[in-house]
Amino acid sequence: MFEKVLIANRGEIALRIHRACREMGIKTVAVHSVADANAMHVKLADESVCIGPNASADSYLNIPAIITAAQITGADAIHPGYGFLSENARFAEIVEEHGIAFIGPTAEHIRVMGDKISAKATVEKYGIPVVPGSKGEIRNYKDAKKVADEIGFPVIVKAASGGGGRGMQIVRSADRLEEAVNTASREAEVSFGDGTVYLEKFLTLPRHIEFQILADKHGNVVHLGERDCSLQRRHQKVLEEAPSPALNSEMRMKTGKVIADAIKAIGFVGAGTIEFLYEEGEFYFIEMNTRIQVEHPITEMITGIDLVREQIRVAAGQPLTMSQEDIKFHGHAIECRINAEDPFTFMPSPGKIKTYHPPGGLDVRVDSALYAGYSIPPYYDSMIAKLIVHGKSRNDCLMRLRRALEEFVIDGVKTTIPLHEKLIREPDFIDGNYDIHWLEHYLDNLDLDNL
Ligand code: ADP
Repeated sequence: MFEKVLIANRGEIALRIHRACREMGIKTVAVHSVADANAMHVKLADESVCIGPNASADSYLNIPAIITAAQITGADAIHPGYGFLSENARFAEIVEEHGIAFIGPTAEHIRVMGDKISAKATVEKYGIPVVPGSKGEIRNYKDAKKVADEIGFPVIVKAASGGGGRGMQIVRSADRLEEAVNTASREAEVSFGDGTVYLEKFLTLPRHIEFQILADKHGNVVHLGERDCSLQRRHQKVLEEAPSPALNSEMRMKTGKVIADAIKAIGFVGAGTIEFLYEEGEFYFIEMNTRIQVEHPITEMITGIDLVREQIRVAAGQPLTMSQEDIKFHGHAIECRINAEDPFTFMPSPGKIKTYHPPGGLDVRVDSALYAGYSIPPYYDSMIAKLIVHGKSRNDCLMRLRRALEEFVIDGVKTTIPLHEKLIREPDFIDGNYDIHWLEHYLDNLDLDNL
């Protein structure tokens, strides 16, 4: 097993990884920007290294500084968390070239899955259904028109290297197609340095349902069921739940098996998520994430399995601690992503935390790096806490979530807690009756003057 892990991340996920390491008897190294000198991940780690100025590009994305930090502290593995360098194949390669273990899949698997066109082609080969669309890249209007005529409008133009919901253009009729292809490609070039785009059918009322998998180096692969992440704003997840209100056990186990078999055939190792759109009983693959995800705790709550611990174990060559038969699903879990933003206009709200009182009690988990007196810097993602609640049934979970949100005090900045309090009281949400567009419609119809 590793003796010392460098955590190449910040915020709640850096703490999450630190906690897993601690419980395994592994020492941790935090890295941080100048702005994060007083951050909680720095305080908790055994050692810390400042890797650069405030901007992420100069610090959390600074590969030479991170490698040097690992070398001077003698870390034998690097955990990338999510975001930042977690899906950078070149980074994984460089880490390994320096004789340090990368806690994640091989660079090759990151590369194949990081390009959505090759990811789609790969999983389709192993029997996973994909969204109908272009077989590969769309080079010009003529290509796009041909595919769109075949599959019918509306269509969506997407960036092959896209992420974070950026670089997508929905097209409802042929006269807007040329412009959309050009805009998406230009946006993709600016955001991802790769203007490659492809086209697929735009599903009008789907849910976003994703499956968690774990795979070790000995050919063992398990799935841990699904998460429903349909509550989204601008293609970004806001609240997630497991299991999905739309699936039954038979559908879960059947689809999970197809996925686990495909992952085994692909030879992927580590923790991964296979994302689908789900409409009228059918699954359509959209992408695979080759890292731990923000919403992983809801899966931990219903399975009792520590995903980060398993991730570290398999990177060290150890076998998974469970087989598919050992995985049992208990009750229901919901995660609310709490951002330092106005809850209804979503204007960022960085600043100093005056009072911090997280909720507690049975089956309530808060993953956050906040503390009273901490100043949230304006340079990074606005997510400051995740509230994760478990209950015996979905209804118990909802009642507990109401109570926990009421208890949560974060004073000094605006947060999205009031939005979550409203959302979970909506009849559609209570009925589990929502798709990926529901939240945007809901927000569009809110009367901001009478909240
Ligand atoms: P990213 O990597 O940027 O998150 P994804 O491919 O995972 O991009 O898509 C993000 C979200 O965009 C999905 O959860 C869904 O809401 C929407 N989306 C993507 N593809 C489609 C599609 N073919 N039809 C409808 N919505 C889509």
